[in-house]
Amino acid sequence: MRNKGLLSCGAVTAVEDKCKRLLGALSDYVDGEAEEAICAEIERHLAECENCRIVVDTLSKTVYLYRHLEPAPLPAAVRVRLFKRLNLEEYI
Ligand SMILES: [Zn+2]
Repeated sequence: MRNKGLLSCGAVTAVEDKCKRLLGALSDYVDGEAEEAICAEIERHLAECENCRIVVDTLSKTVYLYRHLEPAPLPAAVRVRLFKRLNLEEYI
């Protein structure tokens, strides 16, 4: 569905179409798994598109945190309540 609001000028629409096309490849790009030609295209686009830069930046940080942070330990009281709720008291 095309947005016919304030941003319907040709230039903006062309950029948005490119964004949509590249967004599909961004997760591969952040994982370092995108093909070289696609990487080059994404990097060219990122140089001129702040919106996509923000998306890539946020995605990279999320992936980094997901991979590098230790899982938070479950507080003992929460663990007891959780296990009781799940009828797993014998495992507490
Ligand atoms: Zn973009």
